[in-house]
Amino acid sequence: MKRVAIITGASRGIGAATAILAASRGYAVCVNYLRNEAAARGVVDGIQGAGGRAIAVQADVAREADVVRLFETADWELGTVAALVNNVGILEPQCRVENIDGARLQRVFATNVIGSFLCAREAVRRMSTNHGGKGGAIVNVSSAAARIGSPNEYVDYAASKGAVETMTLGLAKEVAEEGIRVNAVRPGHIYTEIHASGGEPGRVDRVKAAVPMKRGGQPGEVAHAILWLLSDEASYVTGTILDVTGGR
Ligand code: NAP
Repeated sequence: MKRVAIITGASRGIGAATAILAASRGYAVCVNYLRNEAAARGVVDGIQGAGGRAIAVQADVAREADVVRLFETADWELGTVAALVNNVGILEPQCRVENIDGARLQRVFATNVIGSFLCAREAVRRMSTNHGGKGGAIVNVSSAAARIGSPNEYVDYAASKGAVETMTLGLAKEVAEEGIRVNAVRPGHIYTEIHASGGEPGRVDRVKAAVPMKRGGQPGEVAHAILWLLSDEASYVTGTILDVTGGR
């Protein structure tokens, strides 16, 4: 039996790279996406073409009923989840705090914070030895923004990642005796399409001079850190936040 991994937001970017790497390491992978069915299908087809096992499941992580359905679908089609990657994260067009409206805050926090909590809840209900589970590992995807603050761009996004990090620390302690490890990665500037959502598709190339390694990162470089945290090689690692930032 393959261990089952649910990776949210796995149709593109860091999530897609993580799904493909997880499958190559022997996980059966649930590829969650929001709208881009063709991209999710492409990730699944690639995994299956390489002899792996994967399914694509549409679900909005900000909606509780969708999250419940996502985990139930994985239960039925793949088996009980052993690894959760809370990868979904959104940001909106760059602006100062004085220009942010409430609807934007609701969207960003609902997706980045509430979505991560709801998925973590469903994972703990299945993994915890208190509930008859066999344990597991959760990796939350934060951002270097959580400690930089992203002034003049998206302080709301940065603050949402701060919440994800605090959830990581608290949940790790809460379930440490129940066979579940909870960690986070904190990517820096990574070449994905998220920067277009902020209105600046070429942002990584603009800011890379501020990175000590003088380059942006690739999604696969974050995926390797995530897979290590999920793996038994990290068996004594919990409540840790791992920077993947080229030194920034
Ligand atoms: P991305 O390329 O924009 O991909 C976003 C993914 O999330 C897509 O698969 C998208 O699905 C999915 N998604 C968006 N909203 C969703 C929702 N409500 N429910 C379910 N799926 C949803 O993002 P990325 O750059 O790879 O970022 C991945 C994570 O890394 C995020 O948490 C981000 O904050 C974090 N991060 C990224 C960077 C960076 O420089 N890229 C830096 C630091 C942290 P569809 O394809 O269906 O739209």
